[in-house]
Amino acid sequence: MKKYVVLAAGGSGTRMQANENKIFLCVGNRPVLVRSILLFERLIDGMVIVCREEDQPRIRNLLPSLSVSFPIWITAGGSTRQMSVLNGLRALRAEDDDIVLVHDAARCAAPQAVIEEVLDSCIRFGSGVPGIPAVSTMKTSDDGRVVSGTVDRSHLYEIQTPQGFRFRMLLDAYCKAEAEEFIATDDASVVEYCNIPVRLTSGSRNNIKITEKEDLPIMEAILQAPSPAVRIGMGYDVHQLVENRKLILCGVDIPYSLGLLGHSDADVALHALMDAMLGAAALGDIGAHFPDSDKKYEGISSLVLLQESARCVRDAGYELVNADITIVAQRPKLAPYIPQMVQNISDAIQCDPLQISVKATTTERLGFEGRGEGISAQAVCLLQKKG
Ligand code: MG
Repeated sequence: MKKYVVLAAGGSGTRMQANENKIFLCVGNRPVLVRSILLFERLIDGMVIVCREEDQPRIRNLLPSLSVSFPIWITAGGSTRQMSVLNGLRALRAEDDDIVLVHDAARCAAPQAVIEEVLDSCIRFGSGVPGIPAVSTMKTSDDGRVVSGTVDRSHLYEIQTPQGFRFRMLLDAYCKAEAEEFIATDDASVVEYCNIPVRLTSGSRNNIKITEKEDLPIMEAILQAPSPAVRIGMGYDVHQLVENRKLILCGVDIPYSLGLLGHSDADVALHALMDAMLGAAALGDIGAHFPDSDKKYEGISSLVLLQESARCVRDAGYELVNADITIVAQRPKLAPYIPQMVQNISDAIQCDPLQISVKATTTERLGFEGRGEGISAQAVCLLQKKG
């Protein structure tokens, strides 16, 4: 019996007044989505992320920096949460008795104990839905102005996610709801609609859902993970000098008898810079983001990859303060090209040229750089939390 998660990540962020999906907002230097994925580490056998089409490239960029124990698939959501979850269930290749947890990506602080109790309840009873007893007095109103009644709250529970069920039971219930146009706001309602009993498990007051911008500092407090104000990173790269290749450094095509060998344009300086930026944000390295086994990066301009890396850093909630790059090459002379290098980098990162420094040095003919066999580059950068 395997365990899977369908992660509903399709929100639009309209209630957040954010111009992006709230799953990309950062809590303690990590996007909400990443935190939600990591909640299930070592607990499940696979995950389907259901999201809007336009969010898929960004999500695919975030995944390589995670080393999770389970495979992750991405599938397109529908026009409602209910449709999205159904798409996610249909994308799963699960056995009837496998367990599926449906979780809202915006609940990125779900405690382990809550998740484990849901799993345990699924194994024993076929379902598990976390709830907390309602503590506030509940009133009804027909027009939003005058109270029409007070509800006995002793039987009321606020329901959270993850909600867990046997795969076949949940999929059949969702298909029935779709066929009969039954609209539900959570997964348990769909199962209840089929007259199947649903087990309550213990929720947690810390299992909040990010719906408003005000929720972000609360989430940070729950996770005790405030984002550091500044972060530092370093990068280092080497490429071999060979015949019949262009010499591209910081996006400048430099006339020389040799060029750097590599899968992309082998721009050693930009590779060092990208590693410094990704490293500062703890997002892995360029090998993970742009694998050289991937055909689409063959011969690609590293300026394009730099744009992508800068975007990943921004997604993680940071912006560049400054970067300093040293290119180590015995020949050719690089000084005349440095202003264009700085301009290329600041254009790609969308920052002021004054934030970028590029320097070149030789090694007094020592080592591989000194013998002209290759060129190396080092970079450091400082990031600050976005205001
Ligand atoms: Mg490289």
